[in-house]
Amino acid sequence: MRVAIAGAGLAGLSCAKYLADAGYTPLVLERRDVLGGKVAAWKDEEGDWYETGLHVFFGAYPNMLQLFKELGIEDRLQWKEHTMIFNQPDKPGTYSRFDFPDIPAPFNGIMAILRNNDMLTWEEKIRFGIGLLPAMIRGQKYVEEMDKYTWSEWMRKQSIPQRVEKEVFIAMSKALNFINPDEISATVLLTALNRFLQEKDGSKMAFLDGSPTERLCQPLVDYITARGGEVRLNSPLKEILLNEDGTVKGFLIRGLNGAPDEVVTADIYVSAIPVDPLKVLLPAPWKEMPFFQKLQGLEGVPVINVHLWFDRKLTDIDHLLFSRSPLLSVYADMSNTCKGYSDPHRSMLELVLAPAAEWISRSDEEIVAAVLKELEKLFPQHFTGDNPAKLRKYHVVKTPRSVYKATPGRQKCRPSQRTPIPNFYLAGDYTMQQYLGSMEGAVLSGKLAAKYISEDHPVTSRHLSMAAAGGTR
Ligand SMILES: Cc1cc2nc3c(=O)[nH]c(=O)nc-3n(C[C@H](O)[C@H](O)[C@H](O)COP(=O)(O)OP(=O)(O)OC[C@H]3O[C@@H](n4cnc5c(N)ncnc54)[C@H](O)[C@@H]3O)c2cc1C
Repeated sequence: MRVAIAGAGLAGLSCAKYLADAGYTPLVLERRDVLGGKVAAWKDEEGDWYETGLHVFFGAYPNMLQLFKELGIEDRLQWKEHTMIFNQPDKPGTYSRFDFPDIPAPFNGIMAILRNNDMLTWEEKIRFGIGLLPAMIRGQKYVEEMDKYTWSEWMRKQSIPQRVEKEVFIAMSKALNFINPDEISATVLLTALNRFLQEKDGSKMAFLDGSPTERLCQPLVDYITARGGEVRLNSPLKEILLNEDGTVKGFLIRGLNGAPDEVVTADIYVSAIPVDPLKVLLPAPWKEMPFFQKLQGLEGVPVINVHLWFDRKLTDIDHLLFSRSPLLSVYADMSNTCKGYSDPHRSMLELVLAPAAEWISRSDEEIVAAVLKELEKLFPQHFTGDNPAKLRKYHVVKTPRSVYKATPGRQKCRPSQRTPIPNFYLAGDYTMQQYLGSMEGAVLSGKLAAKYISEDHPVTSRHLSMAAAGGTR
């Protein structure tokens, strides 16, 4: 049975992978000339990679880790020390760490918090711990109910001192959804904290050993094609064509460079494109349906990924860093963290600029100048004196609509992967699964879409023998 999937991000590729495992023939149709969507990366003229986003993988990503295992590429994940490192804006050039000892959860997390005395006082830690009790005791149900509050509102409700938000949670909120605590839903931070506190290695981080396009997406494509599937680039979905009964008749694919449009037909159809373009492509009769109307409540949030190549080493830190700067979110010296980008003599900083609404339409030059100014505050030792560090080159990648903006009330807008249309399914990090807008969420959404398809449209022995005889349907 043939399944047409629009979008070759992690959701679309994972959906195709699990469908191929279940005996289907997936055909993935990607708009751009690059795999990976929000994990896409490009090589510049000098052979250096630059990426849509600085990506870290967490221990609390069971479906992603399973996928690496199934593809036989687990060794490509470079696990880092179990710690979280924050810049200290008040003491430039220094860091504060939350080190997780090798003991069971939640004690390793509790110890990490208790042992850090740079950022929080004892009273603040105790009041935060008490505030967190309902989430720890009542679990995910409580966490979901808190979607009516922003993180700032929730902290006030729990009588947690405001300094805790300023010291720790601006950085966490920006890292998780590229927005500040007065905008982000409390559900997002509580979900992450619950995972980190309940799973021993939940907050342990890994970097991929090279570009996600080459080191993660390509193995997925190889896996899919080896099992009879296909992944086509430069194939934008232009229109979802309907039968009279409202089911999907075909995907109309826009012809590029003067080529005619093409109708692709299949037994089943999946949208694995982000929610913003999907809203535009929804056929008129579907727009009336409450299931699809909910999508209007979801919208991608802007973010900018900046790469700076310097003439020398600025750090020897082999880890993710929380900048705690108003302009920036997390960053890493990729010349240390990523084997494929390694350089023993010169740093390449990859930095996430967030919130980015104000910056998204500005020029690359303006953005780089502002980031450099911020770096002078974080590393004054490298940018002052007779021989300041020199910027060799840069790349700026803007994503005007990235993951869905997780403000309060969004949970009820997130759709299931199974839609009311019997031959149409959804995959994508915005669809309902417990991992929010993340790589893990994207992979899980694709897996769930594949699972619902196999439940609703099982592959029969007739399909299998037709496929063996050379037919695709
Ligand atoms: C700066 C940044 C940093 C991030 N950091 C992390 C991190 O550290 N950890 C983490 O877990 N997650 C992180 N994320 C989030 C993560 O990248 C996403 O959640 C995930 O990759 C989304 O996958 P997806 O398949 O749902 O969507 P996408 O990756 O957006 O894939 C959708 C695909 O559909 C294609 N498409 C769009 N329109 C059409 C059309 N008409 N026809 C055909 N194809 C179409 C797109 O080109 C794209 O390839 C980050 C994201 C960004 C932007």
